[in-house]
Amino acid sequence: PDKLLEVENLHVSFRAQGGEVHAVRGVAFDVAQGETLAIVGESGCGKSVTSLAVMGLIPRPHGKIVAGSIRFKGTELTALSAKKMRRIQGTDLSMIFQDPMTALNPTLTIGSQLTEGIVYQKKISRAAAYQRAIDMLEMVGLSNGAQRMKQYPHQFSGGMRQRIVIAMALICRPSLIIADEPTTALDVTIQAQILELFDQIQKETGVSMIMITHDLGVVAKTADRVAVMYAGKIVEMGSKRDIFYHASHPYTQALLNAIVRLDLPSDTLKPIEGAPPDLFAPPEGCSFCERCPFAMEVCRHVQPPATTVDGHHTAACWLLDKRADGIRQKVENY
Ligand code: SF4
Ligand code: MG
Repeated sequence: PDKLLEVENLHVSFRAQGGEVHAVRGVAFDVAQGETLAIVGESGCGKSVTSLAVMGLIPRPHGKIVAGSIRFKGTELTALSAKKMRRIQGTDLSMIFQDPMTALNPTLTIGSQLTEGIVYQKKISRAAAYQRAIDMLEMVGLSNGAQRMKQYPHQFSGGMRQRIVIAMALICRPSLIIADEPTTALDVTIQAQILELFDQIQKETGVSMIMITHDLGVVAKTADRVAVMYAGKIVEMGSKRDIFYHASHPYTQALLNAIVRLDLPSDTLKPIEGAPPDLFAPPEGCSFCERCPFAMEVCRHVQPPATTVDGHHTAACWLLDKRADGIRQKVENY
């Protein structure tokens, strides 16, 4: 199928002291072959939880997919046994985390870490795995592979370690890679090189990507399409162009304004006043209500539906809903 991944009405909750956190609340998106979808939002918006749900990595027993569907190549992942899910994790679906040190075992050589998974998952010979590992190191820009294979993680710089993690993610030739803040722990120059590397890998292999980030700069460099998340929901979705040039949700607009104002002294750098709502008890109406300069009475009581702005560009805001025309008038005159 054209759609590699299709997520519908995904709800994920966590049991915690004091009740249940509704971390993801009705998220829907898809990813096509060879494209990069960026999921952007502040910390705690549910973007990482969404990606863990796709990977089948929601920590049990306190975390749970409460409702929804995750179809990968037509297979419903939420219905798979743990065993079948493990067969997909790390092979057809791979994940890259922020800190390469958490993904690497400090006591094992790079070579054994690169080949371990593929020998186990794909049942190929050690010799074939060894060759593939060297090819992968080459692909991520580490020459002298045979030498590198014998070294340990601490013998590499942060940027090189992230390249190794990317090589590990690629070695089983996945169709989809989910990268959660893959460059956040790196300094700016290295960050740019790693983003460049993703682009090159995608051109060479046609792999699809989900890029989870809080950084609109990363979105600008990597994304084909963008989903903006706030308080467990996607509030706006569209092409990179739609989001950067025709942002239609007040939250997206506020995020973009915050970039423009980056030259302000740091103590005034408060992109949006206030804090996201408490997800123990999500608001009845629009989640952005408390921080939104355009909030109307309807916003406090009824959740705004996703409305088509143009083509595949959608946003969930009452300002875009025809039924709110009368109310909008009032706001504009205000
Ligand atoms: Fe603001 Fe209302 Fe739109 Fe929510 S629905 S973003 S409160 S205008
Ligand atoms: Mg996160």
